Amino acid sequence: MRVLVIGSGGREHALCRSLSLDPQVSEVHCAPGNPGMEEVATLHSVDPLDPGQVAEMAARLRVDLVVVGPEAPLVAGVGDAVREAGFACFGPSRDAAMIEGSKTFAKEIMRAADVPTARARTCTTEEEAAAALDEFGAPYVVKDDGLAAGKGVVVTEDRDQALAHARTCERVVIEEFLDGPEVSLFALCDGSTAVPLQLAQDFKRAHDGDEGPNTGGMGAYTPLPWAPEGLTEQVMREVVHPTIGELTRRGLPYQGVLYVGLALTSKGPKVVEFNARFGDPETEVLLDRLETPLGGLLMACATGELGLDPVFKDGSAVCVVIASEGYPESPVKGDPITGLQETEHAYPLHSGTARAGDDVVASGGRVLTVVGNGPDQESAREAAYDLVGRIGLRGSHHRTDIAR
Ligand code: AMP
Repeated sequence: MRVLVIGSGGREHALCRSLSLDPQVSEVHCAPGNPGMEEVATLHSVDPLDPGQVAEMAARLRVDLVVVGPEAPLVAGVGDAVREAGFACFGPSRDAAMIEGSKTFAKEIMRAADVPTARARTCTTEEEAAAALDEFGAPYVVKDDGLAAGKGVVVTEDRDQALAHARTCERVVIEEFLDGPEVSLFALCDGSTAVPLQLAQDFKRAHDGDEGPNTGGMGAYTPLPWAPEGLTEQVMREVVHPTIGELTRRGLPYQGVLYVGLALTSKGPKVVEFNARFGDPETEVLLDRLETPLGGLLMACATGELGLDPVFKDGSAVCVVIASEGYPESPVKGDPITGLQETEHAYPLHSGTARAGDDVVASGGRVLTVVGNGPDQESAREAAYDLVGRIGLRGSHHRTDIAR
């Protein structure tokens, strides 16, 4: 099987690495990719937001499967173009990807399918926003309706700050604050069936102790030894199946991964958000533990042939994101990175790197995702942090409390 992965972050590095380990996969291509993937994939340059270019590349490389990593190409219609050109594609259509592309659409689907989530209002004027803030009260939750790379959400006790964020958005969703720990469940969907991956947890805030601004994610771990028994089955029953059922009823069969972000509230699990793609960095830890070969699994989703639930190895995986100085507000780019070596139980995945002469340099806010594994969470965590300590990048920062 020949596979083309679209994207260039840590998630795509993890996807390429796992695909390269699948004996059924003979070639892994990635576009545009990053320097860390050179060992596991052949890199090509492409504009990932240009559906025609991606479909042409699939034809030129004569691939059997295209895997779309990030949300923006999905919302731009890359999945549709690839399928129209006759290729199997892992990733939903543009219209189905609106489950992530519009928070208002996601709420509408959840309302229709009776899926538990926060009460919410969509507002287009400052007056409406102010009224909604007062209706739900503090802490205030204010979300840009459209795609914002994980940075469109402000949760704050400060009404002025909440209103100021609302003013920066064309359409804004204001909702009830959900209390309780957050977990992520990814369901693989083939257009009619869905199967769950293992539960994971990510760390959204920039600094230790869940302080600082929201980011794309600063670390993650899987499995969750503390998760209530039966949670995965409950979420499949109450959230995933009704949601994909409602999408199908609307003529939008869902092929790809449905990412369910949940808050475990005192009234049961409620949906915080849906994403139409693998979460980054949860994917990095989930794929470390996935035993079922990835290529066959993604192909089964793309061709409507999903079978048994994926199987995971025992043990634990923990990942820690190394971010460049100034991330998320104003990340510094261009500094060289040192110490990029695997250890026995840890390896660096590249999230935002580029080549400059002989050096690998930081090119993004989240620069590296260091994955550690072991028989239990503590050993996986130690392995990850040991490697983080060996890596050098001037001014970089990371959280020290991931999976603690
Ligand atoms: P989202 O982009 O919708 O996932 O929001 C990003 C982060 O904001 C989530 O992971 C939560 O930590 C937080 N958040 C979003 N919605 C809520 C909510 N209703 N109540 C509490 N926290 C929320």
